[in-house]
Amino acid sequence: MKIGFIGLGNMGAPMARNLVAAGHIVTGYDTHAAMPDGVTGAISAAGAAHDADVVITMLPNGAILRTVAKEVMPALKPGAVLCDCSTVDVETARIVADEAARAGCLAIDAPVSGGIGGAAAGTLTFMAGGTSAAFEIVRPLFDIMGQKAVHCGGAGAGQAAKICNNMILGVTMIATCEAFALADKLGLDRQKMFDVVSTSSGYSWSMNAYCPAPGVGPKSPSDNGYQPGFAAELMLKDLRLSQQAAELADADTPMGQLAALLYETFVEAEDGRGRDFSAMLPRFEKRQRG
Ligand code: NAD
Repeated sequence: MKIGFIGLGNMGAPMARNLVAAGHIVTGYDTHAAMPDGVTGAISAAGAAHDADVVITMLPNGAILRTVAKEVMPALKPGAVLCDCSTVDVETARIVADEAARAGCLAIDAPVSGGIGGAAAGTLTFMAGGTSAAFEIVRPLFDIMGQKAVHCGGAGAGQAAKICNNMILGVTMIATCEAFALADKLGLDRQKMFDVVSTSSGYSWSMNAYCPAPGVGPKSPSDNGYQPGFAAELMLKDLRLSQQAAELADADTPMGQLAALLYETFVEAEDGRGRDFSAMLPRFEKRQRG
């Protein structure tokens, strides 16, 4: 396939590399980042989209996506698919899909989970929203860049799945970290805590696969001085998106709201920026009640 790839940062560059390695022709555009080996640079987003069968975007936020989508759509050939893999608000995903339909092309929102490591290894999970026709066209590319792609429903359903998943993740990471900090104060050994919880009803991905306590459980960013991994500010972004969606949908999400507030404090008023989101554990370690 001929693929346009717009946004070749931490995630986009390794994803594009995997598409090139699989034999696809990739033309890229980024306002700042250099082109990865094998990707031909275009001078504009529209230039990268020209003649492409699929245009993939991997951009920082919804406002940028809207601007880029406006520029790209007139350049797309009829029937081409605009596939946005960024994490953006559900509303933007739906607006872009409407605009694409009016422009005679297809759109799919397909945010990912798996982070930079998953992007490099080609093991991302894609959660997609859009028509089945669009999903089937892009599916072979999902299979190259990832290990699983779930078609979640119509436009915006991928973003909805992503923010609901990450709201659970943020909440369970905080719960796991505060429980470790409590266990410390109760004199409970961290390894024993892990041995019990990871095989009991308190288990979760945060505990079992990404344990925030250094030296406990499988290797995770806590074993590497809390270098991200998944940065606290990205978790804050996703929690804010979940609360933006909850506002619009009139959904009561008290735990998500509190998780957003705690990550906001951690990132903006404490030392959380640039650290992995599991660095909530050293944060709680230092704190007292009240
Ligand atoms: P990044 O900042 O490293 O990359 C974004 C790229 O977009 C940058 O290279 C930037 O120069 C480029 N860009 C910005 N405006 C542009 C424009 N108008 N035209 C073309 N290029 C433009 O961010 P990232 O970590 O690669 O994340 C990308 C998206 O993936 C975000 O939406 C993020 O929330 C999501 N995501 C990131 C991770 C992660 O672990 N990094 C995990 C899951 C999802």
